[in-house]
Amino acid sequence: MENNIITVTSPLLPDLGEFEKYLEDIWDRKWITNNGYYHKQLESALAEYLKVPYISLFTNGTLPLITALQALRITGEVITTPYSFVATTHALWWNGIKPVFVDIDPATGNIDPEKIEAAITPKTTAIMPVHVYGKPCKTKEIQEIADKYGLKIIYDAAHAFGVEVDGKSILNEGDMSTLSFHATKVFNTIEGGAMVMHDEKTKKRIDYLKNFGFAGETEVIAPGINSKMDEMRSAYGLVNLKQVDKAIESRRQVAIKYRAALHNVEGITFFDDMPGVRHNYSYFPIFVDAEKYGMTRDELYAKMKSQNVLGRRYFYPLISEFTTYRGLESANRENLPNAHKMADSVICLPMYAGLTDEDVERGIKTIIK
Ligand SMILES: *Cc1c(COP(=O)(O)O)cnc(C)c1O
Repeated sequence: MENNIITVTSPLLPDLGEFEKYLEDIWDRKWITNNGYYHKQLESALAEYLKVPYISLFTNGTLPLITALQALRITGEVITTPYSFVATTHALWWNGIKPVFVDIDPATGNIDPEKIEAAITPKTTAIMPVHVYGKPCKTKEIQEIADKYGLKIIYDAAHAFGVEVDGKSILNEGDMSTLSFHATKVFNTIEGGAMVMHDEKTKKRIDYLKNFGFAGETEVIAPGINSKMDEMRSAYGLVNLKQVDKAIESRRQVAIKYRAALHNVEGITFFDDMPGVRHNYSYFPIFVDAEKYGMTRDELYAKMKSQNVLGRRYFYPLISEFTTYRGLESANRENLPNAHKMADSVICLPMYAGLTDEDVERGIKTIIK
């Protein structure tokens, strides 16, 4: 019998019956976008859930990155990581900023603060780190460097929904943090995203910028963009938010099963939970040491695929390897040994809320020989 396909992720869908009631209300209100009732409701619900002072909703997770750079008037060069989804670096490119890649810390996959200072030039204006897989960056060390050199910090927190360190949201670090609510993420609004900021003044400015720069009926304060979340997706988000804790717990259970089954497999490693951190289990990356495991990463990936277990090589290739960026000096392989090693050995295993024991078991069996 043909095995069903186990995908790497599956969207968290809100209760349809409840969503329908919200839709009926939107039809009654006849207000479908532009900071409507549900948009405001979702912003306050998220600020509370995420333990952040101010948040502004966006249509996706890429536009808040682009807008944050605009809002902080970032120019010149920005230090970032090659080990991420391409949108991180694309946001710099769309602002005419030169990305400068710095290698990662192999213990987390995040930018290595110890290597940041050597990459700073007179043109450096900001640092754009990523909490990859939702694992918190070394925010204290990064802040110290930023303070020393007068740099801004924008965290791409697309993976870090709900992640806390010692009971405090990771999203309050740096000058701004951005989130993605894409279908594949821990919390989704189908497409969607947000920016987290520290003060009301900044929120106001961001709200103008995501609406063409309009500050009133006839006043435009800056060349803004259109990135407003509509009422349907705001309502969808409100319903979905109710089950996100349950979803994270379900993901945690999957992680526990993977770890228990794989910890004795020679040549396979993975991350453990970090002390004091509330993780969101957004991904479950494993790393293949070909020599010890007796099979390369790509061979294991292909074997899994042949058995309908679809892992994903996140993040391979590195962003620095794409045609747009590979000509940059900082994209040299020798500059990024740890990032290359991780990109060449990673497979993200299927991970989502509601992944059945049976499917987890099947995933594990493709790896254990
Ligand atoms: C998903 C993601 C984005 C982009 O978010 P979209 O909502 O798809 O635009 C940006 N950065 C990282 C690290 C991501 O994983």
